[in-house]
Amino acid sequence: MTVSAIRIPFTGPLPPPVIVPASASSVSGAIDAFLSFLTAPPSPYLRGVDVGRNSQTVLLTGAGISVASGLSDYRGKNGTYITNKAYRPIYFHEFATRHGSRKRYWARSFIGWPGLLKAKPNSTHWAVRDLSAKGYISSVVTQNVDSFHSKAHPETPSVELHGYLRSVVCLSCRNQISRAEYQKSLEKLNPAWAEFLAKMVDLGVLDTDNPEERRRRGMKLNPDGDVDLPKAPYSTFRYPSCPSCLEKPPRLQDGTTTRVDVDSDGAWLPTSTAGILKPAVTMFGENIDPSVKIAAEEAIDDAGRLLVMGTSLATYSAWRLVERAYKRGMPIGIINLGGVRNESVLLKADNGKNMVSRYVRCSLNSDTVLPSVASQLPSLSH
Ligand SMILES: [Zn+2]
Repeated sequence: MTVSAIRIPFTGPLPPPVIVPASASSVSGAIDAFLSFLTAPPSPYLRGVDVGRNSQTVLLTGAGISVASGLSDYRGKNGTYITNKAYRPIYFHEFATRHGSRKRYWARSFIGWPGLLKAKPNSTHWAVRDLSAKGYISSVVTQNVDSFHSKAHPETPSVELHGYLRSVVCLSCRNQISRAEYQKSLEKLNPAWAEFLAKMVDLGVLDTDNPEERRRRGMKLNPDGDVDLPKAPYSTFRYPSCPSCLEKPPRLQDGTTTRVDVDSDGAWLPTSTAGILKPAVTMFGENIDPSVKIAAEEAIDDAGRLLVMGTSLATYSAWRLVERAYKRGMPIGIINLGGVRNESVLLKADNGKNMVSRYVRCSLNSDTVLPSVASQLPSLSH
């Protein structure tokens, strides 16, 4: 099987959104359009109709739906790529090979964690929960690493395409540790940073859900849970080694032994050849876990239509799922403020007045549309 690494998102300009039907340019028109979308009979163009739940919808979500929870998205009005042109996420190879890059990453993540912990699912996630309980949703595929879907609707099958921030994983033995536990270790190893963080908390920087206000108070939380701290002394930051590898350094596949060295406090030392912990998210340049990729594809194949929310499909792994749905003949709905990559391809699924359209599109925030849709639809279970 070929597994492609996550590439840096497509950053070219996106064409302006084409609203389908035209009435979906207003909020009430969009609500009507998506009420029809979710309740239409299975599409006659659907292939593979002998399997799956063809009257149900699979969701594909992105950072845009978490903006209302106080996280930045990437390309929205206040998106990370828009407000900070120099922003560049860390690449897997940098993280895996450079001690200095890891110090910088973990320092920023350490400061960003309490804010992420405080952030809660918003009305879009609750609407997904309600739609799921009423029988409309087969599963959710998300690019988000904030765990809001699993918090808001743990009963709905969910695939976290790019992993999750709630755990860290060892690059050598693949053991996972909860991020909350890991935060405690970072706190012990970095008392001065912990003091700084406590000060930020005291100043109330984390007390606001308003990202503008948070930025004004000197802190900016990116969607992957780190913050920008100009001129911070990252090189002083220490991080622990994997406890399992420290206890028993693993053998590599070729039989050679590894070593895990720590300082007197337990901080990982660069003389080590194993035991590096990484957030359990898929970094740029890193392969998506093959089992996750398959689960996402099965989620598409197991549903009769696809609803895309809060993503411009800039990441190839997300676009590929939409392309898969398109090729299967699935009706596709998009709720996303602003343009979407390859929109002209998807528009071909809108066959105008004479044939059945299988494309619905509005350019609005999901929290202005989906909660009303969810509350108006009847339960399918009785
Ligand atoms: Zn390990």
